[in-house]
Amino acid sequence: MTLPRKDLFEIPEGVIYLDGNSLGLLPKGTQAKVATVLSDQWGQQLIRAWNSAGWMDLPQKVGDRIGAILGAPAGSIATGDTLSIKVFQALASALKMRPDRKVILSDAGNFPTDLYMAQGLAGLIGGYELRTVSHDEMADHITDDVAVVMLTHVDYRSGRMYDMDDITRRAHDAGAVMLWDLAHSAGAVPVDLTASGAEFAVGCTYKYFNGGPGAPAFIYVRPDIVTEVKPALSGWLGHDAPFAMEPAYRPAMSTERMRVGTPPIVQLAILDHALDIWDDVDMGELRAASVDLCELFIREVENRCPELELASPREAALRGSQVSFLFEQGYAVVQALIDRGVIGDFRAPGIMRFGFTPLYLGREDVIRAAEILEEVIRDKIWQDPKYQIVSRVT
Ligand SMILES: *Cc1c(COP(=O)(O)O)cnc(C)c1O
Repeated sequence: MTLPRKDLFEIPEGVIYLDGNSLGLLPKGTQAKVATVLSDQWGQQLIRAWNSAGWMDLPQKVGDRIGAILGAPAGSIATGDTLSIKVFQALASALKMRPDRKVILSDAGNFPTDLYMAQGLAGLIGGYELRTVSHDEMADHITDDVAVVMLTHVDYRSGRMYDMDDITRRAHDAGAVMLWDLAHSAGAVPVDLTASGAEFAVGCTYKYFNGGPGAPAFIYVRPDIVTEVKPALSGWLGHDAPFAMEPAYRPAMSTERMRVGTPPIVQLAILDHALDIWDDVDMGELRAASVDLCELFIREVENRCPELELASPREAALRGSQVSFLFEQGYAVVQALIDRGVIGDFRAPGIMRFGFTPLYLGREDVIRAAEILEEVIRDKIWQDPKYQIVSRVT
């Protein structure tokens, strides 16, 4: 498809949306889709809709559509729950595969929930160490005492990207299990899970996939190991025969064993609709457009705002689909930008984050956003007290 395709999305008047890496836009036609699910399916078909409306098959259908984008074979991705839950599940299963090792290796700058989930799990089962090092030190720390290397492919703050194949190979050479979090990669950069050889991957669908707030997460398990994988959350829908209502848990023989409970049908229907757009997306083309937008933004901002410091890798190959700039008063700048229709976000300390989603952003948006940023900085608009952090503690 020719990018961008703004006609496929609801874009509020006057908004340049640079936060699709946090919550994607609303795809057109979503309201009608939801109305059908509520009125015709739930409203009329009631419980019969699990079969008559295909609700029972929806989690797997959506998982396969995600798999097609991420180089994962049909049946290897399960959907449901939140990413935090899927991190816990994948990590627990991965640790079970290396019972003689007690180290979880991650990036010190990883997204908090990934580290918190690891801390919680380590506390629950006892005897484990969560070892965190910086991106630059990672390769040297993949040693033969590490059970699991758990990394987010594209860093949420800086957009810096790991070399998935290289790190996975190093993990395997050291005898460790590899777990990738694709939160900022899925729908943003080309990913080939099969080629990477990683055992596990997880991700969310409300960012670049535009699945909407609360959209279900996904989990990938490499097909050749799935029957050995012990699901820590042994819910009834991960059972081999959920409707046999057996007293004892017996995991499904596929990635379905990573399912837990009743799927969120309305959210899955929204996501299924959002994924229609991806049928016509060529990831190579999308990546080329993303690199072009990011490079244009970096060039424009550096020319216009020398006060700002690039906090993302300058080399496109090392960067995901976002660009971050460091500025001490970044919070106030982002508030002033939002007031002017340029929606980015702020992550402490001082990081102004701008996501570039070629599906609905063009070069004209990038230049306009840079112009507005220049005004905010040059005219010191950010100094207005209304843009400063207001303490909510009284
Ligand atoms: C967005 C994001 C999450 C969010 O987890 P939820 O359970 O969906 O809230 C987790 N990890 C990473 C790396 C993220 O970028």
